[in-house]
Amino acid sequence: MENQSREVEVVIIGAGISGLTAAYRLKKKDPHLDVLVLEAKERVGGRTLTVEMKSADGSDHWDLGGQWVGRCQPQIMALLEELGLEVYPQYIRGLKFLQVGRLSNIASYSSDIPTLPLMGLYDLHRLLSMTDKMALEVNPNDPFSCPKAARWDCETLETFIDSKIWTEAVKDLLRACMRTMFGVELSQISLLYFLTYVASAGNMKNLIEATENTAQEYKIKGGAQQISEKLVKHISKENVLLGEPVSMVTQAGDSVEVISKKGNKYRCKKVILAVPPSQIGRMEFNPTLPVETREIIKRMPPSNAFWRVAGSSGEVVSNGGASMLPSCDMGPLGVVYDATSSNAQPALLGFMGGLQAVQWQKMEYIEYRDLVWDTEPYNEGAPVSCVGPGAMRFYAKGLREPFDKIHFAGTESATIWCGFMNGAVQAGSRAALEVLYDLRPQLVAASDIQVIGGHRSGHKQGQGQSLSGKVVKWSLGLGIALAVIFTARKFYNSMSPA
Ligand SMILES: Cc1cc2nc3c(=O)[nH]c(=O)nc-3n(C[C@H](O)[C@H](O)[C@H](O)COP(=O)(O)OP(=O)(O)OC[C@H]3O[C@@H](n4cnc5c(N)ncnc54)[C@H](O)[C@@H]3O)c2cc1C
Repeated sequence: MENQSREVEVVIIGAGISGLTAAYRLKKKDPHLDVLVLEAKERVGGRTLTVEMKSADGSDHWDLGGQWVGRCQPQIMALLEELGLEVYPQYIRGLKFLQVGRLSNIASYSSDIPTLPLMGLYDLHRLLSMTDKMALEVNPNDPFSCPKAARWDCETLETFIDSKIWTEAVKDLLRACMRTMFGVELSQISLLYFLTYVASAGNMKNLIEATENTAQEYKIKGGAQQISEKLVKHISKENVLLGEPVSMVTQAGDSVEVISKKGNKYRCKKVILAVPPSQIGRMEFNPTLPVETREIIKRMPPSNAFWRVAGSSGEVVSNGGASMLPSCDMGPLGVVYDATSSNAQPALLGFMGGLQAVQWQKMEYIEYRDLVWDTEPYNEGAPVSCVGPGAMRFYAKGLREPFDKIHFAGTESATIWCGFMNGAVQAGSRAALEVLYDLRPQLVAASDIQVIGGHRSGHKQGQGQSLSGKVVKWSLGLGIALAVIFTARKFYNSMSPA
């Protein structure tokens, strides 16, 4: 087939939530603006993917990617409303199970506060409030402007938690939480990046809880991929080309030429890059991208949650934990081993034995799906790309500052809820305004100019009572007692002969 050549005003690369939000905002401001979205995959939605599966009553929809939202995330909530999508609360009532600490005891609890020894509760409260306090010193628009930036950027989240936390159970709890949130080991995350992430979300409570006004408050009825599908309807299907991976972007004179792997050429006045940093690194740019951008994308690999890459052997020994099914006394798996074949085909092998095997073999699953985001083309990892130690000095300029006619969107470039769907919307809207400011300045309001300047809005610090607030109520008495004991011990030590 002959290669095509097309001329438009704006090319947006990537049809995830961020790229499509940028297209939607541009078309909303000026329906005559010629905008074309180029997407590598044969589907829209990027890191959101909703699948239909058989269910007890026929079939239903489940999300394999981004799914939770909350009222503390103003941009995504407003977009959901504009698109007519409804949310429903995450179910959190009833017993919860916690398996942490060396003894691997399973504790159950039903409040918002994990069952931990009192010393652990105090430890957890200390870390949460210390983190919130430190995050207040970090401006997500320019994290490296913080006076302690260089020091915090040398440290990793692992060394921070290791040095500040006394109890093994709380270390385990935080590691489990952070691994899930970032998809990498804590030793791979710069402390300054982590604090930037907390600052962009407002506070730790917003990030980690599933209660009112937090990030895991609601799910989207019918699935999160609908956000992108609805946006496509608004900007019109002809303006979104699927299966069109971009390989090269050349800026020359007044225009930009975008070339796809298929050899198709698109000439335009402006480009919005709405792909994860690792995918920017796979494209060729002429002239090359600024050094800050090259440096930050090299140090922002996509996360991977899987066993060998995460430094794990794959080996698990468990008593099965608690069962979700009333007819089984415990969870299904006893021992898991790495079962990678001699041809290096990765696999895990799990054993069910004894009562576990007797009870679980009677069970039939209706359908099973999983998705390893590491191997998903044009993502290569999830949920977010993290910055390792020593690279944050390039962060703000490298990820967000326009390079002549190229503008940057994508959740990683957001200043409010970066890494989340909210961040994708905020960054897409900001990039759209930047483009509009140059192409249609008459359509940009004074309030929009503030947004382009990257000002921070949307969260109110300390909404509701935080987990740390609740923990402090429970542990205050003990905290005071401990403080006295520690001070006394310190005093005693300093008095003792060396
Ligand atoms: C398992 C998982 C759970 C998550 N949970 C949550 C959650 O509960 N709540 C939440 O808010 N967020 C969550 N997230 C994160 C959220 O999904 C993302 O922040 C958001 O979807 C990112 O949107 P984006 O548009 O910035 O990037 P993406 O969704 O990654 O979109 C980028 C698009 O660019 C395309 N692309 C890449 N390279 C090229 C190229 N060369 N040419 C053309 N196109 C290209 C990609 O195919 C992709 O479609 C989760 C993510 C995952 C994977």
